[in-house]
Amino acid sequence: SLSDRLQDTFDKLRGKGRLTEDDINLAMREIRMALLEADVNFRVVKQFVGRCKEKCMASEVLDSLTPSQNVVRIVLDELTQLLGSTESKLVLAQNRTPNVIMMVGLQGSGKTTASAKLAYLLKSQGHSPLLAACDTHRPAAADQLATLGGEIGVSVFRGDGKDAVKVASGAIQEAVDHLNDIVIVDTAGRLQIDEEMMQEAVAIKQAVKPDQILMVVDAMTGQDIVNVVTEFANRVDFDGVIMSKLDGDARGGGALSVREVTGKPIKFVSMGEKPDSLEVFHPDRMAKRILGMGDVVGIIEQAQKVADEQQAADAERMLREGFTMDDMLAQMQQIRKMGGLQKIASMIPGMDRAMAQQPGANLDDSQLTRIEAIIHSMTKEERAKPKVINGQRRKRIAAGSGRSVQEVNQLIKQWGEMNKMMGKMRGMMSAGNSKKARR
Ligand code: GDP
Ligand code: MG
Repeated sequence: SLSDRLQDTFDKLRGKGRLTEDDINLAMREIRMALLEADVNFRVVKQFVGRCKEKCMASEVLDSLTPSQNVVRIVLDELTQLLGSTESKLVLAQNRTPNVIMMVGLQGSGKTTASAKLAYLLKSQGHSPLLAACDTHRPAAADQLATLGGEIGVSVFRGDGKDAVKVASGAIQEAVDHLNDIVIVDTAGRLQIDEEMMQEAVAIKQAVKPDQILMVVDAMTGQDIVNVVTEFANRVDFDGVIMSKLDGDARGGGALSVREVTGKPIKFVSMGEKPDSLEVFHPDRMAKRILGMGDVVGIIEQAQKVADEQQAADAERMLREGFTMDDMLAQMQQIRKMGGLQKIASMIPGMDRAMAQQPGANLDDSQLTRIEAIIHSMTKEERAKPKVINGQRRKRIAAGSGRSVQEVNQLIKQWGEMNKMMGKMRGMMSAGNSKKARR
């Protein structure tokens, strides 16, 4: 799965503060594979991955996240956004009775099933739908709809069963007569895009002027989905998509292709053959499904755990080895990145309160810049052994860095305090370790 592969890729990236272009390319290769495996059209994949890469390159790697988390976050955000960000509900016209919803799509895509499910959903919301059996090409089509209608207690209008346009118009009149507020028009499809099918769909559209045309797309449709939806968009046009058969293995990559190519929203997903298995489409869930990351939250938590362990190891090394001015500078930058000294202290039982008042606990950028300037004005020897920095040297360092002697004094004092504190922490830690060793 993508989760595993990303995990492997990100294991390689882990521990890096900043991702190089090569790192990002490596991660993008996995994303590309996952999308292709989810049947996202290859052109769509190319564009999408290109955009994700740009975002990854441009984005500041957030300090609170590991590089892998950052990439996952960016890709997931981008995918969710592309899929529509928010749910796109079925909008019914307030001033028209009956509302007309027309279903279009290839044969076997799930139109008849979705018609019944939608009728069931609307009925459960208090509407009084009527199903119109406008697939007059297959003899059994009207029977299928009648059976489904019977199961859910929704009337089915069959008319003469010959002329689809007449059946559709007749259904509107029937709805007016029987006070049905919504007519769902089920239509005929073909196995492939077909001129006669398109013409018939357009004729029904012109006759009943639907408020919504929903295209039903089988989630299992592969690369060809782009041609199918493009053709329907150009010939009949539609307002939204119902993605069917998502209860199967399909990852649903077609949703991404549909959205990218036509800009039409996915409104519902059909998750089975039962009448109550039509669900409002959730872009975030679909994004995770397409990426094959149902457990993306788990990945992020795992990544966080590893990051925390790395931080704890850094803190331990700092304690063990004490530090020079160079270390102090590096550590201050690191500390800032880790969320302050208090965060480090919070990893060591009993240390957080003792640390709370220590200098450096809440460094800001300007302080760090000043400290950097001062340390850069020290000689190699002074940085390695700050004890040698006497009054004379302090004056020289101050002049060299453009800071006051007072500030230099303050920094050296700070270094002394931090070193002392590290000594205390070292004591506590070795006490803890020897306890462990005795067990
Ligand atoms: P139509 O030709 O577009 O009207 O498609 P149908 O509604 O007749 O569906 C074709 C086949 O797919 C039927 O066997 C349905 O039972 C099945 N089907 C439709 N929607 C779903 C779905 O969401 N999940 C599953 N598992 N099967 C479905
Ligand atoms: Mg049908």
